[in-house]
Amino acid sequence: MVCCSRTSTSAGGPPGQEGAAAAWPSDRLQVVAYAALLEEHTGRVIPEGRVRYHADNTMVRVSIDAQARTDLQQAIGRARALQLSVERPPVAENERLCVRCSLAPVCLPEEARLAQHADYKTLRLFPADDDRQVVHVLTPGARVGRKGDQLEVTAKEIEPQRYPVHEVGQVVLHGFAQITTQALRLCAERDIGVHMVTMGGRYMGTWVAGAGPVQRRIRQYKALTEPAVCLRLSRQLTEARARGQLSVLLRTSRDVGRATDAVKAAISSIRKLLHPLAHAASLDSLRGYEGSIAAHYFSALPDVIAPDVGAAMRPDGRSRRPPRDRCNALLSFGYALLLKDVMNAILVVGLDPALGFYHQPRSQAHPLALDLMELFRVPLVDLPVLASINRRQWHETEDFQIAGQQVWLSEAGHKKFIHIYERRKTDQWKHPVIGHALSYARLMELEVRLLEKEWMHEGGLFARMRLR
Ligand code: SF4
Repeated sequence: MVCCSRTSTSAGGPPGQEGAAAAWPSDRLQVVAYAALLEEHTGRVIPEGRVRYHADNTMVRVSIDAQARTDLQQAIGRARALQLSVERPPVAENERLCVRCSLAPVCLPEEARLAQHADYKTLRLFPADDDRQVVHVLTPGARVGRKGDQLEVTAKEIEPQRYPVHEVGQVVLHGFAQITTQALRLCAERDIGVHMVTMGGRYMGTWVAGAGPVQRRIRQYKALTEPAVCLRLSRQLTEARARGQLSVLLRTSRDVGRATDAVKAAISSIRKLLHPLAHAASLDSLRGYEGSIAAHYFSALPDVIAPDVGAAMRPDGRSRRPPRDRCNALLSFGYALLLKDVMNAILVVGLDPALGFYHQPRSQAHPLALDLMELFRVPLVDLPVLASINRRQWHETEDFQIAGQQVWLSEAGHKKFIHIYERRKTDQWKHPVIGHALSYARLMELEVRLLEKEWMHEGGLFARMRLR
């Protein structure tokens, strides 16, 4: 007899044992495999195995008969075929298997079932939050080193700060902060993203160890070289961003009671453009509609700011490189941090940021990261920037540096912005389709994983997030 222990039995029984407690199919195969190994080793025939389920206080018998041996051979054959295949198998039919599976947060079986059946009620298997912190190193001349299993940040005249490595999700080096090779190795071993951002607020790059999962990237290349796939994903993406911009203006007119002519005109124009945007026949026409919507949105943005906020904090259109007013300096720095976070999520999932579906590979920035940023610009940057200006959190001189027509954040301004941005990432938000609340930090990774499902025959949920 072979015995193993488990926590609970399956509901109902296998054919021929209706009403009796039965072993889970995977447990049954495991018992048969143990029996086969023991038979080979001892030379004795084993007629029966048993599984004990502690939660139900039940012992279940498993016959080691001809059928069980055939089932085992078939399962071994299937496992060998899967090992050789580069295709990912579909999610398990038995959803109870997924509840305790450690792969559930990357496999997203519940979301795959929801994509196939719109009325499916999902269980939460994707964690709502990421407890690991992002270490921003801003002090000029600061250095990140390794001290055992901790990252240590040292700088002149500042007490060394230590961070246990299991509590760190990312390290962001601003300006000319340094990092040692020992610390880089530790970050690579623990999958900690190391990013560089200039003090001018430009994202410079990310340290990545290894080539990434090649088969996953090959599937991405195949899908994103299909013009029809790119157009469909781009429509979903730009519609999500446009509806986010519209909801900012609607909130202003409804909740805050500042329905100025500029806000009303922008709302009306954006509404008219939503339908053609969602049905655009080409990427070029889609870019045209998206550009028009962005122009209407930014033209109304000064009116989203409270009337008693000084003129110095009001934006004058959108100016990027360089920003020409304080509001644009805040937006630009926020978008640089967002680009860094989206890059981190793409690399965690294992996609190639260099191949996107909407943005063209014209600049140094990675097109897929630029694509995915569109989903989060409004909730993670625009809204916190506008709210912080309306709360009068910014000091017009101490938080900014003005050089001719260029406006940058000062060191104090950078610190304040990072605090606001990182807090925003921890805000929980209920996904309207999946039905669970999760932090924006986790939402970024979820959207990248949902994007990958778009070419895994489990799509339909990407870019369905909507601001209320
Ligand atoms: S979570 Fe994914 S890998 Fe795990 S049992 Fe379910 S379908 Fe299989």
